[in-house]
Amino acid sequence: MTSAPDAGEVRAEVRGWLAANWDPALSLREWRERLADSGWACPSWPREWCGRDLPAGLAAVVAEEISRAGAVSTPDGVGMQMAAPTILEHGPEELRRKFIRPTVTGEITWCQLFSEPGAGSDLAGLTTRATRDAEGAGGWVVSGQKVWNTSAHHADFALLLARTDFGAPKHRGITYFVLPMHQPGVEVRPLRQMNGYASFNEVFMEQARIPAGHVIGEVGGGWKAGLTTLAHERRLATRRPPAVAQPTDGLALREAAAEAAEAYAPYVWYPQRAGRPDLVAERAVEAGTAADPLIRQEVVKVISLAWTARWTAQRAAVARAAGRPPGPEGSLGKLASSNIARAAARAHALITGPAGLLAGPDSPHHGIISEIMLSVPAVSIAGGTDQIQRTIIGERILGFPRDPGPDRDTPFRDIPRATDR
Ligand SMILES: Cc1cc2nc3c(=O)[nH]c(=O)nc-3n(C[C@H](O)[C@H](O)[C@H](O)COP(=O)(O)OP(=O)(O)OC[C@H]3O[C@@H](n4cnc5c(N)ncnc54)[C@H](O)[C@@H]3O)c2cc1C
Repeated sequence: MTSAPDAGEVRAEVRGWLAANWDPALSLREWRERLADSGWACPSWPREWCGRDLPAGLAAVVAEEISRAGAVSTPDGVGMQMAAPTILEHGPEELRRKFIRPTVTGEITWCQLFSEPGAGSDLAGLTTRATRDAEGAGGWVVSGQKVWNTSAHHADFALLLARTDFGAPKHRGITYFVLPMHQPGVEVRPLRQMNGYASFNEVFMEQARIPAGHVIGEVGGGWKAGLTTLAHERRLATRRPPAVAQPTDGLALREAAAEAAEAYAPYVWYPQRAGRPDLVAERAVEAGTAADPLIRQEVVKVISLAWTARWTAQRAAVARAAGRPPGPEGSLGKLASSNIARAAARAHALITGPAGLLAGPDSPHHGIISEIMLSVPAVSIAGGTDQIQRTIIGERILGFPRDPGPDRDTPFRDIPRATDR
């Protein structure tokens, strides 16, 4: 067995490779094909899937070097962060062959169709129905409604959970599909939020077609694979979209900037969703309230919460780099980000006073303060609410008795709340 290289060796190797291969005059696609072939695209993934089987900690070294060279990396978003890791883990091989590489090169984009009007926290209560397609050999036909689907308006494919067996208990009758979004049976309608943005959509499926072989994992085993996606989503909760530079030179850089501008458009308000703890002290000085003892106390609370969360995340990163399996930090980090966002919004409200409710560019901090007030509630809902995170922490980390879930073994069609049979 060969041991993993150390950080210095990896840094030197990727640096040499970038010096010989990074060329901004290539098209974005050509560059990413080169990156995928080299395995530096996704260093912690298997070699046959654009990776090098390196520990996650060394992937961070590679990312640093790509950024230092001013080169373009893989695309960000649901594809790389949720779809590809789920398909890698659960297969089948046919889906890996079809989707991993075009996701890495940015040729295709993804969204997540999990939540429904009657199934959010109780995701296993979903009623979107998929049946075998009588016309297409091995395919499926799906009808139902999904909601709160970020980026569904420009995604090529969706990660879709649908019920394929209404006679099975609710967690066992679900199948996980890859749904092509561009087809007559799929209608996407934007939803306007109270902060003025429209990041989410409702997605209506009416006899939509799913090709044969587009099942992730096993038919009826969608819940297990869905949990993998949710675990990856929780780890994303504390990330902020990066600032997108507008380069003028280099085709690959220009195409990457255009791709990022489209991909991040639904997320422009996410910094405000996190409560902007980074702005709290600056705002207290700006508003002339930094000497007020009550405000100082709130500011210090925000800063201490933010720092302890950062240390927990750093501990988790070090543990991963040392090859230890993911620990409780995902759920704890998500809950911490809700607490920080609420504490920061409270501090901003105290600092700014009633003027913080004014919207528009001529209001406090160019409208950012009111945007914070209207965006912060989302952080404790997206990717599983705070209450659900507490249940996960209680059951899976602290070892408390499991929620009795009285309908856990009842055939789904016999559960009173299910309406679509
Ligand atoms: C910014 C954002 C982005 C999102 N993006 C997507 C996306 O791309 N794709 C997608 O599929 N979904 C997405 N969602 C939806 C999100 O996953 C759901 O909103 C979330 O799971 C909560 O479901 P719900 O809205 O139906 O609320 P409900 O489940 O109806 O919850 C309402 C309230 O009841 C509480 N509650 C419910 N059950 C329990 C329980 N058992 N114990 C204690 N309290 C409970 C909840 O904590 C909450 O306070 C997004 C949401 C947001 C805010």
